[in-house]
Amino acid sequence: MPKACFLFLTCLFFSSFTLAQKTYIHAGNLIDVNALKVLNEMTLIIEDGVIIGLEKGFKAGGEDDSTIDLKDKTVLPGLMDMHVHLESETGPSQYLDRFTLNEADVAYNALIYAKTTLHAGFTTVRDLGGNGVNIALRNAINAGKVEGPRIVAAGKSIAPTGGHADPTNGMKKMLMGDPGPEVGVINGTADARKAVRQQVKNGADVIKITATGGVLSVAKDGSAPQFQQDEIDAVIETAKDFGIHVAAHAHGDEGMKRAVKGGIHSIEHGTMMSEETMDMMIEAGVWYVPTITAGMSVAEYAKIPGYYHPSVKVKAEAIGPQIQGTFEKAYKRGVKIAFGTDAGVFPHGENYREFIYMTEVGMPNLEAVQAATIKGAELLGIQDRLGSLEVGKIADIIAVDGDPSKDINVMGKVVFVMKEGVVVKN
Ligand SMILES: [Zn+2]
Repeated sequence: MPKACFLFLTCLFFSSFTLAQKTYIHAGNLIDVNALKVLNEMTLIIEDGVIIGLEKGFKAGGEDDSTIDLKDKTVLPGLMDMHVHLESETGPSQYLDRFTLNEADVAYNALIYAKTTLHAGFTTVRDLGGNGVNIALRNAINAGKVEGPRIVAAGKSIAPTGGHADPTNGMKKMLMGDPGPEVGVINGTADARKAVRQQVKNGADVIKITATGGVLSVAKDGSAPQFQQDEIDAVIETAKDFGIHVAAHAHGDEGMKRAVKGGIHSIEHGTMMSEETMDMMIEAGVWYVPTITAGMSVAEYAKIPGYYHPSVKVKAEAIGPQIQGTFEKAYKRGVKIAFGTDAGVFPHGENYREFIYMTEVGMPNLEAVQAATIKGAELLGIQDRLGSLEVGKIADIIAVDGDPSKDINVMGKVVFVMKEGVVVKN
């Protein structure tokens, strides 16, 4: 701001035409996620929330500019997790919570999870299923009222009666009722269309379906297909009319195949994915979001007596440990992979564990970082604005203590977070 503004018009003139304050970030290391390279001694220049310069060496700004010293850190784009659930977090009371927590309680919890996620370096997430608090949270964050990552929200997941996302699974009959498309439970193509339209009306950015059974619902089967082909087709065609994508939770192979045939945008978990399905996904350009951390976590929790419902325990033990092996096969075969964890199934903020699991089975460290940055941006269709540190992109920037190209564990040591040019952690 100019030092003296005598007249309102002068102020307007100065604030529009004098040099705005810039931020200079001195990065000891900086990751180019397109070239998969670590660059040394770079300066990022940020103005009005946008990267306006990326220069070799440590450049000094003008008198009014500020400088952030990250000379002994590695700087990288804000991370992106394509599969989180910000409305909940695992715990021994997770089933009781459905009966005891009001929406306001869920919202206060979600606020904490959102902040934790942002401070762990994740500046963009896709929330793949909750009860609509995720949409309100997205709006509050976008309006700058509360702190959290940029959220692409699915609202409520869609399933058939008794499917993985039927909210009354496992309840006594009096409580079960007969939930319908307004809460994401469909039977037939008309319901499918109505459920999608309802989610869009509620404010969803993306549609999530549970194409097969799942682990944590109180239902016997964790992998059988749950929709008829015409129902999946109706969901995807309706979403397409709104210009939005559909993501499919899937463990069993047949449900995945139906989703891919219907034109799905991403397969989540993908536990029992066959080579044939991998090839169909490569052919159609379908993304795979592995969520290995969720698989590993549920297998661990299943060992704690009474932590899960007995039917969930059996599924967690059977399905959980398989995802990492499927990820390895899919990666080596050439399926497009974007980073996603299913955070909420394990504590928010531990999203970085996925990097460790991905690299353990052969993905190079910088490719794992790429999956959590520019690849996530590509999945969301926002790669022109986010996902890499390039001139013209939105300044979502983080730094870690160490060099992730040498030691992937440092992805858990996020010491600096900037979102849209504003420092939220340093
Ligand atoms: Zn999930």
